[in-house]
Amino acid sequence: MDAVVERIAVRHAALGIRPEQYTLIGRYLLGAVGTVLGDAVTPAVAAAWDEVYWLFAVRLIGREARLYQGAGVTDREPFRPVTVLARERAATDTVSFTLAGDVPFRAGQYISVVADLPDGTRQIRQYSLSGAPGEPLCITVRRVPGGAVSGWLHATVRAGDTLTVSPPYGSFTLRPGDHPLLLASAGVGITPMASIVAQVAAGQPDRPVTLAHAERTPDRHALRDRVDAHGARLTNFDHLVWYATEHGALDPARLPVAPDTEAYLCGPVLFMRVVRAALLARGVPAERIRCEVFGSDRFAGVAAAAPALP
Ligand SMILES: Cc1cc2nc3c(=O)[nH]c(=O)nc-3n(C[C@H](O)[C@H](O)[C@H](O)COP(=O)(O)OP(=O)(O)OC[C@H]3O[C@@H](n4cnc5c(N)ncnc54)[C@H](O)[C@@H]3O)c2cc1C
Repeated sequence: MDAVVERIAVRHAALGIRPEQYTLIGRYLLGAVGTVLGDAVTPAVAAAWDEVYWLFAVRLIGREARLYQGAGVTDREPFRPVTVLARERAATDTVSFTLAGDVPFRAGQYISVVADLPDGTRQIRQYSLSGAPGEPLCITVRRVPGGAVSGWLHATVRAGDTLTVSPPYGSFTLRPGDHPLLLASAGVGITPMASIVAQVAAGQPDRPVTLAHAERTPDRHALRDRVDAHGARLTNFDHLVWYATEHGALDPARLPVAPDTEAYLCGPVLFMRVVRAALLARGVPAERIRCEVFGSDRFAGVAAAAPALP
């Protein structure tokens, strides 16, 4: 339960959720429960739902207040304008944006980008930080066909423009320690891995790191040169790459697994399920396997055989 609350609170902070919004959400959520369940919602049942909602909400509000405090968000505006210092091609359909400002972050964290779109709507999306901690913030965005914000970023945002972003949030970050690292990514899931490799290269150059990456085609492989440049500063770095039409092509049997391996996975949910199942089968304990989910699971229907993600 704590992990669930933490995950929701972190995402809420990245979205700039405010305490008073819980009143609104509660009203409509509990209203929807009444609409769907009809007469089954007696006054006692309604009171129980209301109580559970507010127990949960109060916990989240408290945690979100601490997250805002930690991120230095002291006013009512959870987002800040930043200048785009550079825009750079990272792959055929992927672009990196470097942002001005000296903002501390840990590898594996992300920021929200607020897009005021031409149709008048405001959309918020998260993008993992792909650069090295200690350097300016950098995000790397794959253009999703029909995607509102990725399409807007690709089509309109150039060096010198202003973006509205949140501070860095997220807990897909390295635990203290020097265990061998296995980073397994697919597609644009490479972004937090690039940052993690940079952080380890800077602070723990003797730590063993394997990056296993699956991509559909070489021209879509983002950040490869950057990852290799950081990896070259590690004494024990292995970079395994699979190209195939589906992200699931990575062969988990080829992943090096030591008794104390710590694994970080990022990619489509099916990809992570398959890799996680293989690591569990080879003796990596569940608490040493961490996953970052970028979006909904487009492949959920075919992932039946693999265990659920935590
Ligand atoms: C923690 C986190 C980190 C992330 N990091 C990165 C990163 O580093 N790089 C990166 O590129 N992405 C990253 N993402 C994903 C990113 O946040 C966006 O989800 C992604 O860019 C797509 O957003 P969009 O607005 O372009 O697409 P959306 O407009 O949200 O659309 C997504 C898909 O849904 C379809 N769609 C939209 N509306 C409808 C509809 N009404 N009916 C049917 N289909 C519809 C679109 O065609 C598209 O295929 C991350 C996500 C999370 C949660």
